[in-house]
Amino acid sequence: MTGNKNRNLKEWWRRFRAWQENPFDYTNHSEHTIRCANCGTEFRDNFCPRCGQEASVGSIGWHTVRQGILNLWGMDTRSLTFTLVQLLLRPGYLIRDYISGKRQVSYPPVNMLFIVAIANVLASELHKTLYGNAEDVEAFQGALAFMNQFMTWAQENTAWCTLLVMAFFILPTWLLFRRAPRYPRHNLPEGFFLQVYMATLSLLIDTVAQLTVLRINILFPICYIVTYRQLFGYGLWGTLWRLFFCVAIGTMLIIIAFIAAMFLFNAETLLAS
Ligand SMILES: [Zn+2]
Repeated sequence: MTGNKNRNLKEWWRRFRAWQENPFDYTNHSEHTIRCANCGTEFRDNFCPRCGQEASVGSIGWHTVRQGILNLWGMDTRSLTFTLVQLLLRPGYLIRDYISGKRQVSYPPVNMLFIVAIANVLASELHKTLYGNAEDVEAFQGALAFMNQFMTWAQENTAWCTLLVMAFFILPTWLLFRRAPRYPRHNLPEGFFLQVYMATLSLLIDTVAQLTVLRINILFPICYIVTYRQLFGYGLWGTLWRLFFCVAIGTMLIIIAFIAAMFLFNAETLLAS
């Protein structure tokens, strides 16, 4: 009985791993030449090469109703919903697919970041209404007036702020992971898209945290480990020590940038007064 259960579990895990690595099926399922119901082109493939309509479009039936409802929920390949599901269940593989040229597997990442950021703002508003405003932003004075300005800006521009923080990890990621076994010689623009996905993932997790009051945002470092492992293909320790230095360098860069910005800001206010 338990042996059977174990085998089922193993089989399920094997299938899940295969799905994580590659959830898409692009084999040609057509058995004979068909005429496109939309534009009349004759072809033998899953989709019409001229207008892009699906080959299997027949008369309207119950399957069309089902498909229509699924489309409403956006569960087709490039949809936002399915991309978010992938981001949660196969983050590193999704990012590798996208930056290595499989653009069809993902909703456009920058758009996705801003949509998730809007959801995040709505969720935190809801959180405030339901549970009260627990964490008030402290008011700083004098030299730290810049801190106030920054905090206000950060609250109003969740997407930009998250992306700005993640952007400091582009360079260290490149330095430490550019010889990775699974994704060697990645470049800085690819690093930018990696951080766009990471920013989206962090906002997505924070949104769920706001709505459920589960403090799952503390799990976010684990997301980085899992994602970088899937994307770059180092072992657990290889990923861990590289990420440690990544965070150390990234944090240092953030502090330097923050101090520089603070000096610029203060110089500006001093000149103005
Ligand atoms: Zn056609």
